[in-house]
Amino acid sequence: MNASPNRAPTGTPLYVHLPFCAAKCHYCDFYSIAAEGQDVDGTVDAVLAEAERRAPREPRTVFFGGGTPSLLSIEQLRRLLDGLERITGFRGSSVETTLESNPESVDRDKAEALRELGVGRLSIGFQSLEPATLELFGRVHGVEDSFRAFEAARAGGFDEINVDLIYAAPGHDEERWAVDLPRVLALGPKHVSAYALAFEEETLFSKWLAEGKIQAQPEERELALFHQTRRVLAEHGFEAYEVSNFAPSGHECRHNLNYWANGPYVGIGPSAVSHVGGRRAGNHKALAAWRAAVRDGRSTEAWDETLAPRERLGESWWLGLRLSRGVDPAALRAVAGWREDDDPALAVAAPFLDEGLLEEAAGRVRLTAKGLPLADAISRAFLA
Ligand code: SF4
Repeated sequence: MNASPNRAPTGTPLYVHLPFCAAKCHYCDFYSIAAEGQDVDGTVDAVLAEAERRAPREPRTVFFGGGTPSLLSIEQLRRLLDGLERITGFRGSSVETTLESNPESVDRDKAEALRELGVGRLSIGFQSLEPATLELFGRVHGVEDSFRAFEAARAGGFDEINVDLIYAAPGHDEERWAVDLPRVLALGPKHVSAYALAFEEETLFSKWLAEGKIQAQPEERELALFHQTRRVLAEHGFEAYEVSNFAPSGHECRHNLNYWANGPYVGIGPSAVSHVGGRRAGNHKALAAWRAAVRDGRSTEAWDETLAPRERLGESWWLGLRLSRGVDPAALRAVAGWREDDDPALAVAAPFLDEGLLEEAAGRVRLTAKGLPLADAISRAFLA
């Protein structure tokens, strides 16, 4: 069925990266650029040209991320999605098609158009319900815009709506969170992603932190907010199926579950990463370099790596431990192609099991309540 030897197998999940945003948020380290003055139409053409060469047929899931894909006009979205349908047939195959959005670029007409074009799940970046925090973040929307966008999405036909939130920003505390989080949940989202603010390298936030212009929250407060997030979401029927991702049973993000299972996927668009057959590769980040490669019919990849079984095994633990169900060591060995008797990942896990940070249950290994707040550090140990 696959027309090109470079094409991933039929059914492989597809990620499409659209890098444009209304403005660059101060904490953001994704490849995203302000849309003003950019050739968005030409970028849609280039995405379709790359898809023509590389997108898998009949992907199981599709995710439009960025950037802010909702920033595209209805006409641009129509061209993009109809084009992808022609190339991949995703409307008949995808069990979950998600598009990331921000409040300033969602209205009822756009939501209706997206539903009609085959998008079934909308993710909206609320990030905060505090005006001062939105301003500090460099967000271009206000608090009420987020609520308006949610209602517009629902009126436009979306039932599966995710809300993105960031807690533990400067000035954030448990008192405000106790009001704000239930206010978001009262809208009835089917999924919530709630991350503690991170000071990523090469962001304005990390520069401001180094210059002393902003302060990170003390560890105890971040931990208190972490526990509060889980408790409040649990009270509203949301399962913490991943360290920072919450949904009532049956509403988990299937596209992202595949990432955490270290499964295969194809990414198209600038900076997008693909993982097929144990080989990982990333596209050129800069829009101009990626577009030039597409235009000239050259490979869009800027880097690639093929992991040895030991590395694949460690990576699968690193990703899988983030899930509340944890990992099945035997299954990970099989996927990684690790054939030796001793399992190096079990040796890494042993001290964490002894300390009560990991536990074994029904043949799986997972984080304990004590280990959860240390998820990043524990899972990173498996990459060594
Ligand atoms: S809207 Fe999202 S992708 Fe765009 S700059 Fe802000 S955080 Fe980054």
